[in-house]
Amino acid sequence: AAQFAGQTLAVFGLGRSGITAALSLQAGGATVLAWDDREEARQSAESQGVDIADISQSDWSQIDALVLSPGVPHILPEPHWSAALATQADVPIICDIEIFAREVAAVPEENRPKIIAITGTNGKSTTTALIGHILNSCGKDAQIGGNIGRGVLDLDRMHSGSYFVVELSSYQLERTYSLRANAAVYLNLSPDHLDRHGDMEGYAQAKNRVFLNQLKEDAAIIGTDDENGQDLLCEMKAEKKAVTIPISAKRSIGSGVFVLGGKLFSTLGKRVEEVCNLSKAKALEGQHNWQNAAAAFAAVQSLGLNPRDIGKAILSFPGLSHRMETIGKAGKVRFVNDSKATNADAAKQALNSYDEIYWIAGGVAKEGGIEPLKPLFKNIQKAYLIGEAAKPFARTLSKSDTPYKLSGELRMAVLCATRDALESGAHNPIVLLSPACASFDQFANFEIRGDAFRDCAQKVIDLFDSEM
Ligand code: ADP
Repeated sequence: AAQFAGQTLAVFGLGRSGITAALSLQAGGATVLAWDDREEARQSAESQGVDIADISQSDWSQIDALVLSPGVPHILPEPHWSAALATQADVPIICDIEIFAREVAAVPEENRPKIIAITGTNGKSTTTALIGHILNSCGKDAQIGGNIGRGVLDLDRMHSGSYFVVELSSYQLERTYSLRANAAVYLNLSPDHLDRHGDMEGYAQAKNRVFLNQLKEDAAIIGTDDENGQDLLCEMKAEKKAVTIPISAKRSIGSGVFVLGGKLFSTLGKRVEEVCNLSKAKALEGQHNWQNAAAAFAAVQSLGLNPRDIGKAILSFPGLSHRMETIGKAGKVRFVNDSKATNADAAKQALNSYDEIYWIAGGVAKEGGIEPLKPLFKNIQKAYLIGEAAKPFARTLSKSDTPYKLSGELRMAVLCATRDALESGAHNPIVLLSPACASFDQFANFEIRGDAFRDCAQKVIDLFDSEM
């Protein structure tokens, strides 16, 4: 990153993205002072050529910016000491996305790759992957990264005519100033991560930054199925910076992209056009995925691709693991892995997509627990509760007479749920892992939790098949 040549940058947090950022800054001629509170992390970074320095002892008046890993808090609940030092010395706090944004901006316009940026509380990864899939299916050279897959500085450097599709969390956006997205997507907003952003407004502001440097020819795609999105649309229209494209998965809207009766419609051309029938898209089950499909369509069409080709590509999307991923069936029982549902709002989608659910939930609960899911308890035959949240979830379920079992750990939950589902009179029972919780009491992350569920379900399926 030659844009930082001659500057001095502190880098805190030496995970993969921190190391890549440090190395790329060093290669571009910056002086790097890198640090991590964990000694193994420092050693590993040093062995890869990163210049280590104890920034708690540095003269911060000589530092131009702090590159802070997105997982490390810079405001709430308590700023990390490195962030506190930076703030005291008036040193801007940035992240790898900012370095990437400046690199791309430095490419002469005629050769500059296009950036599509996606943010929101839920659906970011699905939408990002779907946009990448559509672009590649339409013969374009697209890479996805950011908060999904590879970090942005790990992506291959690209040339004119190519596309970076980047998923951005609110934490990343808070530390990004120079990003200009040719198409930016704001999907939805629900009360997740409030511990970090203080209140909804702070959180909303972080997400709005995805539109920050957009120009008149860029597209601002806004999910209007919640109030925040509707307000945002009004604000963005008034500002007249980018072309605004509203989307809805619930109702027909005068101009924009929407889904009705499972069919995707666009009014972006001269008249209303039916793009494709989403009920045929196997990996985009459920109304929430219709929002993702509408957003992806709007983003890609704004870049000039043909609506028919986009529609075809949407139908061939293979889907992502851990998001309502069907693993297989043991007899009539289908196993669905939705480990990515780490909050109630995400779990709502799966609970709303099926009935006859044998629901595995629990882990580390978010504020509000499963209270918001009450209206969907009618779709639950029985719940199997695991992890720290088991008892509080049991209390909520018992208030509405939903049967439950305290299963302790995941394997036990899968076995009990399968047995109950097989023995039940249900026609299409689903053993669903959609935990409405973070995983870190029992698993390192949601992927490992989902993999454990998949392994377990697969064993049950194999056993069932071998006995047939
Ligand atoms: P993110 O990357 O924002 O966490 P994902 O695409 O990985 O989102 O989806 C995570 C979970 O969120 C899914 O399992 C699903 O239950 C739910 N979800 C997906 N898309 C949406 C949406 N548009 N609105 C609400 N919930 C969604």
